[in-house]
Amino acid sequence: MVETITSSREAILLEDKYGAHNYHPLPVVLNKGEGVFLWDIEGKRYYDFLSAYSAVNQGHCHPRIINALIEQAKELTLTSRAFYNDKLGLAEKFVCETFGYDKALFMNSGAEANETAIKLARKWGYTKKGIPDNEAVIVAVKKNFHGRTTTIISASTDPSARKSFGPFMPGFEIVDYDNVPALEKALANPNVCGLPAAGYLKSAEQLCKKHNVLLMMDEIQTGIARTGKMLASDHENVKPDMLILGKALSGGVLPISVVLTRDEVMLVIKPGEHGSTFGGNPLAAAVCMAAMQVVKDEKLAENAERLGKIFRQRMQAFMQKTNMVTLVRGKGLLNAIMINDTPESETAWNICLKFAENGLLAKPTHGNIIRLAPPLVITEEQIHECCDIIEKSILSFSK
Ligand SMILES: *Cc1c(COP(=O)(O)O)cnc(C)c1O
Repeated sequence: MVETITSSREAILLEDKYGAHNYHPLPVVLNKGEGVFLWDIEGKRYYDFLSAYSAVNQGHCHPRIINALIEQAKELTLTSRAFYNDKLGLAEKFVCETFGYDKALFMNSGAEANETAIKLARKWGYTKKGIPDNEAVIVAVKKNFHGRTTTIISASTDPSARKSFGPFMPGFEIVDYDNVPALEKALANPNVCGLPAAGYLKSAEQLCKKHNVLLMMDEIQTGIARTGKMLASDHENVKPDMLILGKALSGGVLPISVVLTRDEVMLVIKPGEHGSTFGGNPLAAAVCMAAMQVVKDEKLAENAERLGKIFRQRMQAFMQKTNMVTLVRGKGLLNAIMINDTPESETAWNICLKFAENGLLAKPTHGNIIRLAPPLVITEEQIHECCDIIEKSILSFSK
C-alpha cells in the first residue's frame, strides 16, 4: 500500500529525513494547482508569485496542456532516438517556425540545453572558424545563472554554485556584465567561439558578427512571454545565433528544453556525437506544442506586458508609503523588489513568510531581493488583489 501524507508538518519532516538538503524551501506543502493558484495540504489557497521560476507561465495544470499529456500518454511516451516517432518532427517544425530558426535539438533540463549549446559552439569553432584543437573559448558574463552541471558552474561566478565542486572545466572567460569595451577585448581573442549573453544585447550582437563569434542566449527563464514579448531579446530586436529555451516550453508539465540555431551550426554535430534518451520523446513533443499554442492563443506576452506595467506602477506608488522597499524593477511579469536590509538579514525571508500567511507565495533571492513573477494568465483584478496582499504584508514590517 502507498502511504499518504496528511499534514504539512509530516511532509516537511519526511523530506528532511530522507531527501538531500540541497534546497531551503519555504515551509509550505502544496498538493494542488490550478491557473494562478496553489493549495496546501490543509486546503489553504495561495497566489503563486514564483511560477516555478517561470516554468508555469501558462498557469498550473492548464487543461489544454494536460489533455495533450493524457492523450499522448495513452498512445506512446518514449521510443528513444534509435527510431523515428510521429510527434518529434511536428514539434521541431513548430518551434523553428515560432522562433525563426532552421533547426531544433530537444533535450530535457535547461542545463542540458546549455551543455548542448556549448558543444555546438565548440565544434562550430573547430570545424568552421578554424580554432586550433582544444583551445576554444566561450565568453560568459558575471553573475550569470545557466544551470548546475559541472561544466556550466565552471562559467559561474556565484560562490555557492562553485565552492568545493572543482576542478572546473577550462575554456570560459568571464567578463563584466554591461561593459562593452571588456566584451570587445574578450571577443578579439581568435579562439572565441561563443557568448551566452543577456543584456547590452545589441552591441553584443554587432561585436559577435564582427569577430565571427556565435551569440548564444539562454532565455530559459526570460523567454516564452515572461517579459512581455515572446523573447526578452525581442525588446532590443536582437536575434542570437543560438537560442536556448526550457521551463515554460512545457508549461511546467514535463522537463523539456531546446536549442535552436541555423543549419550551418546545427549540422556540425553528426549522428552518435550527442544526445539524450528522453530528449525529443513523443510525450514531450506533444506537450510542448500544446504549451506553446496556449501562449499564442491566450496572448500571454501581451498580458504580461500590460499587467507588468500596472504592477510596477502600484509598487512605485507603494514605495512612497514605506521605507521597506528600495527598488522596483522588471519587464513584463518578471519583476523584483529590493528590501531595505542587508543580503545577510532575514527580513526578505520573513516578508515571504508573511506573504504566505496572507495567501501569496514568493521566495527571496540573493538575500534581500524578492522575485515577483505570477503565471501570465493572471487577470488585472487579481494583480490588484495581489498588490494589496504584498503591500499589507510589507507594511506590517515597517519600522
Ligand atoms: C532555470 C534556468 C536554467 C537551468 O534549467 P534547469 O532545467 O534547472 O536545468 C538555466 N538558465 C536559466 C536562465 C534558468 O533560469
